[in-house]
Amino acid sequence: MAYARARAAIRLAGVVWALSGPAGAMAEGPIAGGTGMAGPVAAGPVTAAPAAWSFKLGGLQLTALRDGGFVTPNDGGDFGSKAGPAAVAALLAGSGAATDRISLDVSALIVRMPGHLVLLDTGLGPADHGALRQSLALAGVSPGEVTDVLITHAHGDHVGGLLGEDGRSAFPRATIRLSVREWAWMRAQAETRALAAVISPRVRAFEPGKPILPGITPIALYGHTPGHVGYEIVSRGERLEDIGDTAHSTVVNLARPDWTGGMDLDPPAGAATRRRALEHLAATRELVFAPHFPFPGVGRIEAKGGGFTWKPAPDTRR
Ligand SMILES: [Zn+2]
Repeated sequence: MAYARARAAIRLAGVVWALSGPAGAMAEGPIAGGTGMAGPVAAGPVTAAPAAWSFKLGGLQLTALRDGGFVTPNDGGDFGSKAGPAAVAALLAGSGAATDRISLDVSALIVRMPGHLVLLDTGLGPADHGALRQSLALAGVSPGEVTDVLITHAHGDHVGGLLGEDGRSAFPRATIRLSVREWAWMRAQAETRALAAVISPRVRAFEPGKPILPGITPIALYGHTPGHVGYEIVSRGERLEDIGDTAHSTVVNLARPDWTGGMDLDPPAGAATRRRALEHLAATRELVFAPHFPFPGVGRIEAKGGGFTWKPAPDTRR
């Protein structure tokens, strides 16, 4: 997402942080920029109560972990930059959502397998009040048990939790995996260069397309960032794909996957990848985990009209 812009905006806005609701509630608490009556919505992270949601995939136990949320104004920037705010507002209104903003969750995923405890993405991090550590505790996981951290891409809401409040690795035993292209980009960007230097000794970059752990294969989904990947997880014939930021909003990106927006670093490539990935997922009917869809972000994609729709999968809960 347009994370650097959001961080700048939130500093300027002097946002007051507050926790939303009890554990287990959906992320719907106080947001950056107020209620929409007091002025424009400010882009930025919002807090959410920790939560852990476990389910089975074949012989594996997976757990979605809530980290926080993110709000961005409906101003033709991050969503529908060519379609315009009125067209985006019509979609939002049709789903019963506020029309002046797009509200997203931020979540991560745990996969337990013999010999490995795998974490996919790390959330916003302590500087942005990410609750990943508390959600890990709810799942019964201590950070020292994590053996592998798989990164979809190097935006702050996915790599922010790699370091603890002390500036050291939050997962001291873990190998950190990301694509060769993303690792090169992460080391080159001013916003992520310092973080890259800290984690460098533990990083093992990969070329997507081949398994990096038993049953886990990175899939190239370039466009959101230069080396953005998803991860396909297979166990006993059951499949789930973590699509990272291929789509952010179930309301906007699924109904109108071809609309470009500033969330994607390369908007045309991001939209083309989104269309291709969603067509694939609707055809296979495999499970999907999407870090920015409503928590727990687990469900299936169905074709609808010229676009797609989201079917949350409570039936997978165990
Ligand atoms: Zn993101």
